[in-house]
Amino acid sequence: PPSLRVEALAYAYPDGTQALFGVDMAIAPGERVALLGPNGAGKTTLVMHLNGILTAGHGSVEVAGLPVRPDTLREIRRRVGLVFQDPDDQLFMPTVRDDVAFGPANLGLRGEELERRVERALDRVGMAEAIDRPPHHLSFGQRRRVAVATVLAMEPDVLVLDEPSSNLDPAARRELAEILRGLDVTVLMVTHDLPYAMELCDRALILSGGVIAADGPTGEILADA
Ligand code: ADP
Ligand code: ADP
Repeated sequence: PPSLRVEALAYAYPDGTQALFGVDMAIAPGERVALLGPNGAGKTTLVMHLNGILTAGHGSVEVAGLPVRPDTLREIRRRVGLVFQDPDDQLFMPTVRDDVAFGPANLGLRGEELERRVERALDRVGMAEAIDRPPHHLSFGQRRRVAVATVLAMEPDVLVLDEPSSNLDPAARRELAEILRGLDVTVLMVTHDLPYAMELCDRALILSGGVIAADGPTGEILADA
């Protein structure tokens, strides 16, 4: 099955604002996909359905064949890692180690197994040296990498990133691109950074007015945009 499959997904907020009008998309294992579109298009609303922060009013969302439902949320949240736009929404413990260990400890990992998981996730984002440091002593770019590590420590099948390059200086932006390129997971990134999408994603989706308005190779989609 695809890593992500969304069918006929429609959603209205409690105040009646209709944000999604029937979204269909499928993302194969290992694909790297950019989710583009103007403000208010429904990108955040769509992303919040992918790990069950919001649950479908109408339509369906499946992760590697498993439907997102109240009774599957625990497994869905292990499979789909969400990296928020602001790393400070994801880092709240006294040390980097504690932040990265939080998710896998919650899954029941302990002792050496947990320590290995934390070290491996920090290695993957080039932040192994920072393991004992308080997150708030790190630069913004380093905090974003640690936020990515907190999600990788869950060993997800799908990594969803909200504006991964925002507020990064050119060096930090390049470093993160290198890291993302090296990951062996399915990636969906919401971004307004078209060069980043071009560099990192094979495929781009444009969400507009709560529907997928375009879907294809990133170069073609951006040439038409
Ligand atoms: P994007 O992420 O593409 O900017 P959003 O998913 O945030 O789009 O928003 C889609 C639509 O839903 C917009 O019209 C937005 O104003 C509306 N919306 C977003 N969050 C809420 C909410 N909590 N309550 C009501 N309407 C909302
Ligand atoms: P993004 O750029 O990530 O889509 P937004 O600036 O659109 O973020 O929204 C920020 C927050 O405000 C989100 O939590 C969203 O759900 C909420 N929000 C957006 N539009 C509305 C709305 N019309 N009514 C209530 N909450 C909203």
